[in-house]
This record gives sequence, C-alpha cells and structure tokens, in this order.
Amino acid sequence: MDMINEAARETPIIRKTDVLVVGSGPGGLAAAIAASRAGAETTLLERYGCFGGNLTQVGVEGFAWYRHDQTVDSQGIGIEFEERAKSMGAANPEPQSNSHAIDGEAFKYVADVLVEEANITPMLHRTMVAPIMEKGVIKGVIVESKAGREAILAKRIIDATGDADIAYRAGAVVHKTPVEDMMAASVMFSINGVDKKRFIEDVKANPHSYSDWCGPDWSMETSGKEDALFSPYLKKPFERAIASGLIPKNLNTITGTWGAISEQGDLSYLNLVHLAGLDATNPDHLTKGEMEGRRQAMLAIEALKQFNPGCENAKLRNFGMTLGVRDTRKIDAIYNMTAEDVRNQGKFEDSIGIFPEFIDGYGILILPTTGRYFQLPYRAMLPKGVKHLLVTGRSVGGDRDSHAAVRNMMCCAVNGQGAGVAAAISIQTNVDVADVDISKVQRILLLQGARIN
Ligand SMILES: Cc1cc2nc3c(=O)[nH]c(=O)nc-3n(C[C@H](O)[C@H](O)[C@H](O)COP(=O)(O)OP(=O)(O)OC[C@H]3O[C@@H](n4cnc5c(N)ncnc54)[C@H](O)[C@@H]3O)c2cc1C
Repeated sequence: MDMINEAARETPIIRKTDVLVVGSGPGGLAAAIAASRAGAETTLLERYGCFGGNLTQVGVEGFAWYRHDQTVDSQGIGIEFEERAKSMGAANPEPQSNSHAIDGEAFKYVADVLVEEANITPMLHRTMVAPIMEKGVIKGVIVESKAGREAILAKRIIDATGDADIAYRAGAVVHKTPVEDMMAASVMFSINGVDKKRFIEDVKANPHSYSDWCGPDWSMETSGKEDALFSPYLKKPFERAIASGLIPKNLNTITGTWGAISEQGDLSYLNLVHLAGLDATNPDHLTKGEMEGRRQAMLAIEALKQFNPGCENAKLRNFGMTLGVRDTRKIDAIYNMTAEDVRNQGKFEDSIGIFPEFIDGYGILILPTTGRYFQLPYRAMLPKGVKHLLVTGRSVGGDRDSHAAVRNMMCCAVNGQGAGVAAAISIQTNVDVADVDISKVQRILLLQGARIN
C-alpha cells in the first residue's frame, strides 16, 4: 500500500480531568455517573450528538427483557436507567418480561438529565483518535472534531467505546471472533401508523415462542425451559413475502423480534435485519452494512404492510442513527471470563456486581427464569500492559459464551459502575487501577446501591 508521512504538529490541550470516560453507552454512562458520585471530577466524551450508545443511537430498547418472576437481578445504576426512563415517560411495557422497554429517542433527553445531575462535564461530537502514552501509562487522548485535533489529559481513563478502541491503539492485546463467526450486525428501525388493536389481536391469535428462533439454516441452543415461552417474534409475514416473490429467497434471514408498541401506533425496536460476515472495525464493511441493511429494512416494511394485520398503513418512522454492532474487539484481561462462569454461577473475591443467568448470542439463548446469577470480576476490565486504563462495556475480557452474557446492556451498566468507582478510588489512594483496594471499591459500590454478591 502507498503511504504518506504526516507532519509533526502541536496540539492544544483543551481539558485536564480526573476521570475521562470515552463512550457513553450503558457501560460508559454508568461509569461516568459512578465515578462522579464517588468523588472524582469526571468528563464524558462521545463521538455522536447524544449519550446512550446503542440504546439511543441504534434504538436497542430491550434493556431488561430477560426479567421473569424468579429472576434475581442486578442492582445499581442500570436499574436507575430503567426507573428514570419510566418516571420521565421514556419507557413502554415490554411484551415478554417483567420490564419496560426504554424509548430510545426519549432516553436521549433522560441521559442528558442524568449527566447534568451527576455534575459530569459533557463533551459530545468529539471522536477519540489516539491515546497519549508515556512509558506504558496512558495520560490522555487525542480527539478529532469540527474544531480540529485536540488533546484531553486525565488521571484515569475508562475505555467504554464498545470496540476497545483506546486499549487497541494503546497497544494492549485484543482479539476478535473470526468474522465468519461474529454475531451479525443489524440496521434497526421503527415504524408508525400501526393499528395497535389489530396488531395485538393477531399476536394473541398466532402466538410465537422462543422455539421459533430457529431458521432453515440456523439453530438455537436453549436450556429447554425457554422453548415454550412467549416471544414477540415476527416470521409469517416474511415467509409469505418470500412465497409471493416480494422478498428474494436468499433473504430468509429477514425475521426477528419487535420491541414495544405505543398507544399512538409506533412499533419500535424492529430487530429484523441480520447482516453476517461484517467486521465493524472496518469502515468499508460498515458502509456496506448500512446500505444493505436499509435495503432489507424497506423490504421488511413492505412485507409487514402486505402480510401483517394492523400494519397496512404503517410507514418508516426512523432508522437507527448508525448500524447496530454486537461484536468486535475484546481485551485480553488480567482475568478473562469463561463459559463456566456464566453458566454455573461464577463467584469472585473481586466481584463488583451480579448479573442474572442470561446468555444471548452466538446461537445460545438461556433466560434467567430461575434465581441463578453470577458475579462479575473486576479483573476482567483490566487490560494487560497499559497502566491507568480500564475497559468496560461489551469489550471486557472473556470467551465466546461469556460475551453472550456480559454484552447485555444491564450487565454493561453493572461493569461500568464498577469501573467508575474503581477509577475514582485509584486516584484518591494514589495507586494504579490494577492495584486498587477492591474492598474499598466494593464498599462504595454498596453505598451506591449496587449488589455485589
Ligand atoms: C441490533 C442489536 C440488538 C441488541 N439487542 C439487545 C437487547 O435486546 N438487550 C440487551 O441488553 N442488549 C442488546 N444488544 C447489545 C447491547 O446493545 C450492547 O452490547 C451494549 O449496548 C454495549 O454497551 P457499551 O456501553 O459497551 O457500548 P455501546 O452501547 O456500543 O456504546 C459505545 C459508545 O461509545 C461511543 N464511541 C465509540 N467509539 C468512540 C470514539 N472513538 N470516540 C468517542 N466515542 C466513541 C459510541 O458512539 C457509543 O456511544 C443489542 C445490540 C445490537 C447491535
């Protein structure tokens, strides 16, 4: 490949902060709130124009769709997200669980309020492009924006980019699932103009269950107890659209779930388009995924209009602001979580939170319909070889099955809260994040309302 040399340049330092959180998804938002509440002066940096990550930018609204009567759930800031969304009119009852789907559009404002209340310095519209390193210690980051190239210095940094962008560029060891085995990416969308009464009558007349989550070319591992449970699944309209020639036969992957329906006829969080074979750290793959995904979504809407009762007059309300990405880099952490940990109630001395036995991804679906849960080890957020850096959210260290669990938004919030508190304590006690006194971190987490065992 031909190369050019970029000229060396001076870059203005626009901010110095205690804790810098980069990325504001469920992981980063919880981390920033926790760090600030633990007494650290905190800055939250985000490349897009709103906080919330996949929740607001992609429209992933099923925050706790796993919750059943017997579920022993996480506590802490993740639960606050759901409760706050409910109290601010930014949530709708979720059809398959004891939970509310968070309204992805309205949560943009809820997140603003949470950031302001926590006294966090907000920085939207800046993309982190490089870490500032000194002998293996991260000192800050370089950002790019309409203002050009700028530097932000921080005592501790939390990488909540979802893609472990900072860890990767700082030279920490990261890995990716081979692209052919990665979880599919999705263009998410919502429609309006749905006749709710007719739509729900049809759902009741033709109920689906999780056993329908299998297709001609793919299967789903469950524990058996999931199979007969109700699932808000849409399959028949797309089978009929293929039979009629509207959707080409090779697009039998167009099928999936709906998330919530409002009184006004908004049918949101339509998770119907699945794009395999995309590596979302490659912008050419992202370009292809965005365009192909929108094409498939429009076919799906036409199929719903023609073949799904209640959708006759529906129209596109919105696409997610960006392609929905499930699977990219994960760090090689001091401790990498395992299938055994998430399938068999793992326990850890350095637990910073719990998450119910909910595994969803890579063709596995296990729902926490019993009281089983596992603990989350702090060490899974510590990348090897970079000091003063924590990685949280979906790119923590672990194997395939563990990621099918910890990638879920509530779990990202639990880990994020742990990372935020640990970053604050490590500054206050003047030690690296890897050497922080975990019992102190656990004590503050309990005071913040988290459950650690
Ligand atoms: C289609 C789809 C459906 C899903 N369904 C569910 C579901 O029903 N329930 C569930 O619990 N989970 C679901 N997930 C998974 C879940 O949404 C993610 O795993 C979770 O949001 C990850 O949280 P995070 O905080 O790690 O990262 P993200 O939510 O991805 O947030 C990362 C943030 O970092 C920002 N960022 C990235 N790079 C930079 C940079 N260089 N500089 C500045 N900012 C940056 C991004 O803009 C974003 O705001 C789904 C995912 C997808 C894609």
